[in-house]
Amino acid sequence: MTSIIKKKICLLGSFGVGKTSLVRRFVYDVFDDLYLSTIGVKVSQKSLPAVKRKDGSTAQVELIVWDIEGQDKFSDYMLSYYTGAAGAILVADLTWKESWQVLPELVAHFKEMNPEAVTVLAANKVDLILTDQEQKEALKQFAKKLDVKYFFTSAKTGAQVETVFTYLAQNM
Ligand code: GDP
Ligand code: MG
Repeated sequence: MTSIIKKKICLLGSFGVGKTSLVRRFVYDVFDDLYLSTIGVKVSQKSLPAVKRKDGSTAQVELIVWDIEGQDKFSDYMLSYYTGAAGAILVADLTWKESWQVLPELVAHFKEMNPEAVTVLAANKVDLILTDQEQKEALKQFAKKLDVKYFFTSAKTGAQVETVFTYLAQNM
């Protein structure tokens, strides 16, 4: 019998980087070009039926995905947003380097509350910078400094979106 594991994960990142779009792509497999500004917090759920876990076992992982509106700086109400999370997806917008700057602080607070949690960086909107090697290199350096695994994602094309969520499911 396969065991069922339920895990809460949070999306972290500045306003407009694509957090809500990544969740919509992953959970519903759709993308909107319209600006979706999230009001408050949205919780969605998706089940991954057969995840190969790092201990070699296979499990069904239920991801409870928490998506919050713009987080340009840390505030107290984020504490309840972070409570009990086993993982976080840090989202950076590849077209807009300033959006990366908030991540070290957000992840520090997140880790303080959830020291065992697994984090991963989604370098999003790669569809808009496909040939910009310099920006990709800068992102790699940034990820190295943050000491976090990264993937180049696009909520628009779907590139690597599943991979990011699956990475968490495998490693939490
Ligand atoms: P959030 O504030 O982090 O939740 O960002 P949203 O998901 O609301 O996205 C902000 C804007 O970026 C919207 O207009 C999206 O359509 C757009 N967007 C999000 N992800 C991508 C992507 O991967 N590629 C492109 N081209 N646009 C994206
Ligand atoms: Mg949003």
